[in-house]
Amino acid sequence: MTSVQPSTDPTSPAENGTPKITMTAAFEGIEGSYSHAVLEAYAARRGVTFIPLGCPSYRGVAHAVLAGRADVGLLPVDNAIAGTIREGYDTLAFTNRKTSVIFAVPNVPGATIEGLREIDSHPVVLAECGRFLATLPDVRSIPVPDTGVAARDAAASGDVTRGAIASAGAAARYGLVELASTIADHPDNFTRFLLFRAPNALGPAAEFEPADDFTNRKTSVIFAVPNVPGALGRCLSIFGAHDLNVSKLDSKSRLGAAEQYAFYADVDGDLRDERFADALRELRDVTSALHIIGCYDASTAPPRPRRAPAVVVDVAPAVVPKPAKISFPKAQRQGDEHVRSRVMVGNVAVGDGRFVIIGGPCSVESRDQILATADAVAAAGGVMLRGGAFKPRTSPYAFQGLGWEGVALLAEASRASGLPSVSEVMSIDQVERMAASVDLLQIGARNMQNFDLLKAVGKTERPILLKRGMAASIDELLSAAEYILSEGNPNVILCERGIRTFETATRNTLDLSAIPVLRERTHLPVLVDPSHGVGVRRWIAPLCRAAKAVGAHGLLLEVHPNPAEAKCDGDQALTFSDFAQIVKELNAIPSMT
Ligand code: PEP
Ligand code: MN
Repeated sequence: MTSVQPSTDPTSPAENGTPKITMTAAFEGIEGSYSHAVLEAYAARRGVTFIPLGCPSYRGVAHAVLAGRADVGLLPVDNAIAGTIREGYDTLAFTNRKTSVIFAVPNVPGATIEGLREIDSHPVVLAECGRFLATLPDVRSIPVPDTGVAARDAAASGDVTRGAIASAGAAARYGLVELASTIADHPDNFTRFLLFRAPNALGPAAEFEPADDFTNRKTSVIFAVPNVPGALGRCLSIFGAHDLNVSKLDSKSRLGAAEQYAFYADVDGDLRDERFADALRELRDVTSALHIIGCYDASTAPPRPRRAPAVVVDVAPAVVPKPAKISFPKAQRQGDEHVRSRVMVGNVAVGDGRFVIIGGPCSVESRDQILATADAVAAAGGVMLRGGAFKPRTSPYAFQGLGWEGVALLAEASRASGLPSVSEVMSIDQVERMAASVDLLQIGARNMQNFDLLKAVGKTERPILLKRGMAASIDELLSAAEYILSEGNPNVILCERGIRTFETATRNTLDLSAIPVLRERTHLPVLVDPSHGVGVRRWIAPLCRAAKAVGAHGLLLEVHPNPAEAKCDGDQALTFSDFAQIVKELNAIPSMT
């Protein structure tokens, strides 16, 4: 269990002004919410940089951290007016003084408090401003997911009767005008937030280490006792007997265990302190459950909120289990759903809302074959031409591709048809020469974790089509993308091409559920290759429709002038007319942006 110490002067930036650590930080809401403002304030104080990752719920924040999508998460746990924020009480934190400010839509003359009929905000914030809201009897208070959403939607409505309670940052971000400030029921209103990381976190979050001195530390625990006289008293006297002060106590009935009661307690002291360890040992004998939430610096906890260093604490494994920590700082989608990368392949944009269809043979077999296919793909509305020249075949006796001759023929067909070309690069020594004449370099499923090859293509200027390995998890795919991105090549397109499962009816199992997951987790465009996914011609069309409907940014399809004669993957090759028919059908399905 470790936690963060504030820098000696919490207000000073890191040495030489450059933030030392970059971390992805999950928070509830959208940019502009109070949680987001708290993150920014903390980042400035600690000299760290946060890549914000907005989440739709408190659980979403915890999940983002535990699933490795974020290095740290921020949750509110306690408000001085509204009380314990139970849902957020999964960690412990730093104090953030905030001033609630009420805003209405700008640029519309005549917005006044008197004119308001609706005020949106987070439910806790509405509770904090209860007295002020009671002075506006004609105004309905509408709870919304977070204050950022309140501000954004009030602004977008253009309605002068609709206001929001949000931070000054949200007002500036969404262009709102201030109508009243300091409207919380008490001017010293503050919320404690908890910034937490997964236990055993690797990466930047692990660089926060606790100091050796135990002064000014707090530990938050949850314990349950039987619902009988004296049970709570026994627990509290154990803390007292070990000279440990309980500074907060909040009760909660245990769902499904009516005969028990649970309590959240903040106790002054550090877990590593012997007194604390002894107290916990004794506590275990008189409680029916005991979880340590976290241990953190509390030197500036209320009532001294102005010097408010943040802390990072572990989430106790007993409370939230299983934390595998992988981070994808470059591949990860950051906050806003609409921030997505657009990768240019020649003059074709991938990932910006237009659905791209790439067609071509599994392998280039002859000049006639690739030229005819290029014509057919272009005529049907395909936008890129694929064709393998170096083929990763299971058997060394199977057709291995035409090699450099194939690359040259593909380049000729690409020039003739005007379609940018796609071809697989199998080894580092092919990269440079391939990059000279192929527009989109493909890393095949079998090479997805060939890390040296990934690094090599990361050094080229060419966009990369990274296919998911047949036994690779989504995390592994994103980690592979990170290898390319971290070498400085930002132009990565992912491709789901089916994974190995117990199912043998299809060549692979096309994992279309990966598409919404990837759309949520990464800003990189994602294509689907149903050809290798199912391996059977007649099942490709329905999966093309499904892929588009589920949010893929395009398709990679194998097309051959005469599939029966194909030197490789003939069973899954579409004829020219199959391909044309699929492109036509897909026009009827709307693209997701
Ligand atoms: C290919 O697209 O030609 C190919 C070999 O696919 P995968 O790497 O997905 O098997
Ligand atoms: Mn193939």
